[in-house]
Amino acid sequence: MYDIIVVGGGPAGLTAALYSLRAGKSVLLIERENFGGQMTFSPKIENYPGFLSISGSELAQKMVEQVAAQGASLTMEEVMRIENSRADNIKVVVTDCGAYECRAVILAVGVKHRLLNVPGENRFLGDGISFCAICDGAFYEGLDVAVIGGGNSALQEAVLLAQTSRKVTIVQNLDFLTGEKKLVEILEKAPNVEILYGYTVNEILGGERLEGLEIKKTATGEVKTLKVDGIFTAIGLAPVNDFFTNVAELDQYGYIVADESGTVTASGVFAAGDCRTKKVRQVSAACSDGAGCAIRACEYIDRL
Ligand SMILES: Cc1cc2nc3c(=O)[nH]c(=O)nc-3n(C[C@H](O)[C@H](O)[C@H](O)COP(=O)(O)OP(=O)(O)OC[C@H]3O[C@@H](n4cnc5c(N)ncnc54)[C@H](O)[C@@H]3O)c2cc1C
Repeated sequence: MYDIIVVGGGPAGLTAALYSLRAGKSVLLIERENFGGQMTFSPKIENYPGFLSISGSELAQKMVEQVAAQGASLTMEEVMRIENSRADNIKVVVTDCGAYECRAVILAVGVKHRLLNVPGENRFLGDGISFCAICDGAFYEGLDVAVIGGGNSALQEAVLLAQTSRKVTIVQNLDFLTGEKKLVEILEKAPNVEILYGYTVNEILGGERLEGLEIKKTATGEVKTLKVDGIFTAIGLAPVNDFFTNVAELDQYGYIVADESGTVTASGVFAAGDCRTKKVRQVSAACSDGAGCAIRACEYIDRL
């Protein structure tokens, strides 16, 4: 039995684990695929205090080392649900591999990439369509790629890909890019980057392998085909909280309803980071949430 189980190994979960351990609690941190969470997709983080510039993977590694050194138990499993035990004030965290008991649960499950939901997408996900230039960009060295989206994540992906790919075409549904001005300037100057404004994706094309995509100009209905070898989708993120509706209320978009104390409907359950209702979804904000939540969870356990 653990004092606290943290679900999700992104910056919110890692910080929650760190604060809980330093308050003398035993902690199990459960992550389903990637300790570090979303930040591992970021080639450069330049707005996390203490580092002029650091890759998301390196920052993640430092955070994981820190919680491991403080004595956290880490496991790679997917949490399927949270149940109440028959014993008072004990929660059971059920995973795809087993079940663990604890006194308090901190949900720090973040968000996942939004899909285009067009024909052909499912066939090429992970094999032609990627969400991560830092992970998969090398497969497209010297080849042509498309980046779908115009926000910060899409622009960061495009900047990185432009360094190694032959041509990068950015497909943006709006008539302007919404990402940081600094990134827009870099891309506008890059000789191998083309930006297509006002287009949406109709279909992903290919046979044995991905060969391109069909796009449509929203204003005119004009349809055209782009021949590319790979597609990087960065059209936003969506919550993944459906597993937890028995312990937490979700808002209309699927985020866990909680303020910065992390308190949710069920006692002994807390929510931190991008998975909860909030305005700012960033690494520093996730860390702040993790710290606050851990302190609340420790107070809750001490009161039991
Ligand atoms: C491409 C990209 C670039 C970014 N760049 C920056 C930047 O430069 N600066 C900045 O401050 N922020 C940046 N962000 C945003 C930042 O990464 C997030 O705000 C932050 O990671 C949120 O932390 P989190 O811990 O709440 O969630 P996440 O990082 O999403 O971590 C949640 C973790 O929970 C795990 N999980 C989910 N469900 C389960 C389950 N059922 N069982 C077990 N584990 C589960 C997930 O696998 C994931 O690892 C970027 C994001 C992206 C995608």
